[in-house]
Amino acid sequence: MNADDRTTGGGERPLPEGLRRETLAVRMGLPASRHGENSEALFLSSAFVQPDSETAAWRFAEMGDFTYTRTANPTVRSFEMRLAAMEGAEAAIATATGMSAILLLIMGLLKAGDHVVCSRSVFGSTIGLFGKEFAKFGVHTDFVSQTDLDAWRAAVRPETRLLFAETPTNPLTEVCDIAALAELARSAGALLAVDNTFCTPILQRPLALGADIVMHAGTKFLDGQGRVMAGALCGSARLMREVFWPVLRTAGMVLSPFNAWVVLKSLETLALRIRAQSASTLAVARWLERHPAVERVYYPGLPSHPQHALAMAQQSGIGGAVLSFVVRAADAEAARRAAFHVVDSTRVLSIAANLGDTKTIITHPATTSHGRLTEEQRQAAGIGQGLIRLAVGLEHVDDVTDDLQRGLGSL
Ligand SMILES: *Cc1c(COP(=O)(O)O)cnc(C)c1O
Repeated sequence: MNADDRTTGGGERPLPEGLRRETLAVRMGLPASRHGENSEALFLSSAFVQPDSETAAWRFAEMGDFTYTRTANPTVRSFEMRLAAMEGAEAAIATATGMSAILLLIMGLLKAGDHVVCSRSVFGSTIGLFGKEFAKFGVHTDFVSQTDLDAWRAAVRPETRLLFAETPTNPLTEVCDIAALAELARSAGALLAVDNTFCTPILQRPLALGADIVMHAGTKFLDGQGRVMAGALCGSARLMREVFWPVLRTAGMVLSPFNAWVVLKSLETLALRIRAQSASTLAVARWLERHPAVERVYYPGLPSHPQHALAMAQQSGIGGAVLSFVVRAADAEAARRAAFHVVDSTRVLSIAANLGDTKTIITHPATTSHGRLTEEQRQAAGIGQGLIRLAVGLEHVDDVTDDLQRGLGSL
């Protein structure tokens, strides 16, 4: 979190200013220890020995250095510095999971009586946390259409403190205009937080578009290999230090140093992975769009996507590595059977509920991630029985389409 720590290679050679994102992804972090390790060390230590009582007293009062891992840890700090640099943020705070990043966001910013405007298409647990858990504490959230700016504007009240958006959404890849929402938040005296899990800073930098806070589920593309849970908030040094850090060190939703080490090292290959996975996703999307058994494909990288132009402008011209498609069927029951047939005919893809992994994951949202909704709620959300979500990994793209063809070709 401390910009003065921007050194590497034993601390003797501070990193020069103006390094590009790819370089920061590999180099940013705390200095190496006195052993000069070239790969960042993993500090699995709950406490840190203090040289003397005077120093200990200062460190505990100022939180200036390492004392106890709930307060700060060198491996976690390196991950925070690296992610902040990649997002173009002054600072970042790591959390145990993506959801605990949102928990920290709410606990840090909001109190009883405050109001939130949130897209109704965000991650399901995000809806639960805002709409149910924090309603108990008197924080009221209105959920509005992801793409209807007038609906966001109409929902804002004098006590609105936070606008929360996620773009593109899961599974229908709806895109919202971050710059327009930032403008709306500013005029309302509220903050805009954006869940950047799907695009990562490689494709989309919400802070540069005017957002105040970026939130991450590091569990997804940041780890990128389906191993650990992680989360983060990024933003101004003042917000991190004065608003979120005091809550974090008290409430303790900290990232484990081991998990921090895994995601720290994964950031080094993030740009390569997300570009390769996105290129494969575009190829799969084009293949699906031509397939006679497919009714519709949802992917921001396709010209047929309703917000294609906005997505390309906002996401560095890249659609990302998640798409959804609908299989053709006469009615809901036939659609469900057809979707199950496609999913169950795969032999390479993983039937799972994660995304952002090197292994391609296939999901039937209506009976898994959105299975707890009523049929009417699902219809309203556009999650039909024929919908299949694909989070494309790093396999050869022809093996992915061949695996889909097993089911699609025999419907
Ligand atoms: C997975 C996910 C989350 C929650 O992250 P966890 O690490 O599972 O807690 C939040 N937002 C989005 C967009 C996600 O995909």
